[in-house]
Amino acid sequence: MAIATVNPATGQTVETFAPHDANEVDRRLDQAAAAARELRSAGFRQRAEWLNAGADILAGDTDSVARMITIEMGKPIGQSRAEVAKCVRAMRFYAQHAETFLAPEALDDPSAVGASAARTIWQPLGVVLAVMPWNYPLWQVIRFAAPALMAGNSGVLKHASNVPQAALYLDSLFEKGGFPAGAFRTLLINSSDVAEVINDQRIQAVTLTGSEAAGRSVGAAAGHAIKKVVLELGGSDPFIVMPSADLDAASSIAVKARIANNGQSCIAAKRFLVHTDVFDEFARQFTAKTSALTVGDPLDETIAVGPLSTQAGRDELAELVDDAVRHGASVLTGGFAPSGPGFYYQPTVLTDLTADMRIVMEESFGPVASLYRVEDREDALRLANQTPFGLGSSVWTTDADEQQWFIDNIEAGAVFINGMTVSFPELPFGGVKASGHGRELAAAGIREFCNLKTVWKA
Ligand code: NAP
Repeated sequence: MAIATVNPATGQTVETFAPHDANEVDRRLDQAAAAARELRSAGFRQRAEWLNAGADILAGDTDSVARMITIEMGKPIGQSRAEVAKCVRAMRFYAQHAETFLAPEALDDPSAVGASAARTIWQPLGVVLAVMPWNYPLWQVIRFAAPALMAGNSGVLKHASNVPQAALYLDSLFEKGGFPAGAFRTLLINSSDVAEVINDQRIQAVTLTGSEAAGRSVGAAAGHAIKKVVLELGGSDPFIVMPSADLDAASSIAVKARIANNGQSCIAAKRFLVHTDVFDEFARQFTAKTSALTVGDPLDETIAVGPLSTQAGRDELAELVDDAVRHGASVLTGGFAPSGPGFYYQPTVLTDLTADMRIVMEESFGPVASLYRVEDREDALRLANQTPFGLGSSVWTTDADEQQWFIDNIEAGAVFINGMTVSFPELPFGGVKASGHGRELAAAGIREFCNLKTVWKA
């Protein structure tokens, strides 16, 4: 895949970038290895100063960076500005809390292990490789980079091929904040070159956010090289609506949870499992609100949904819908790609879904909602847990017993009650099953790329 910016609103190639050759990759890995040694001894206070300075620079660049994101991947411009703000917040969060998250812990009773003193300390691993997707071109990277750098690691980034401008912006951001030159380096390489980088002795660990297929490749390469790996993969999150739910609020948030980022979010609600007592009314409200969405140029402040990020992504989504319709699904709204330039797809609601349709088990990465009628909470849970994925989930009910039952039984990395799944710097984020393993954000995220060293003294 060419490393290029192609504006998804027009289909036009804006700029193409030459990949780094082997010598340049080698030079950048050397820089990252040297920076890891510097960062390790720099201390929390110094690293926090650099990270806060980086956050100030990013905040100052909000408008230009937001525009760059929208032109590279098609997110509505207001959402691009929100993404930048979220990155700034996460950088400040880790600058403030990293030292506490990684504080040593002493054993209360060292005599139990025959020691005069025993404790654990967190130490950086070295150079961490991040393989990242285009859907949140800054946020996905910052949520790895901010904790990794604060822990004293350096980072190298292989970003998605369609967001090279975001990748290059990030390449200079940390250095501008004051970090040593190699503390964060972008590698402009193809995905076929990733395994070789993982195998390089200068790399100590890997984190990937992306599809299941990429997860299998990167996980296998990391396993072969015996290197720590975090995998944040796809999802097909359930959004469960029970009879006690506020249907107006639930249907409005359901639309937002499905179409945010033009429907291309791992934690977007993708399957709407609605109790039969309220199904018809929910379906009516949800369909009406989806039909009312404005679709168009993502630089226009007034539109709700922009194009999908690539032609291939749009075509895959259209195939998923066409397959469902061929097998008997009903289209309540949408179901087509509008004519004209750009990679647009009309926001769509499907129902009457049956097991022979691909969309039942696969992730729909775009503004397409699957609506299911469920008989009771057991039926809702069975459907919620039936996909290979287990990332986020959302449950709408005011019944405390029902809430607890879903919290206890949903197979997912997160359950949000009467709200949509969102990521916050303060809360751990990650999945189970084919959604991957390991956690990002909060204390858990910074600890993933540390050596938890046990210290025992006679
Ligand atoms: P993708 O094709 O897997 O790409 C993600 C990254 O992996 C890109 O940098 C890509 O490089 C690279 N890559 C792809 N195949 C690879 C391979 N075989 N070996 C090494 N690297 C490889 O995913 P996408 O379509 O861009 O992104 C959408 C997917 O990401 C969805 O499934 C979504 O749910 C998931 N996602 C998950 C999370 C989460 O936190 N769990 C967050 C966001 C997105 P190229 O661009 O050069 O191919």
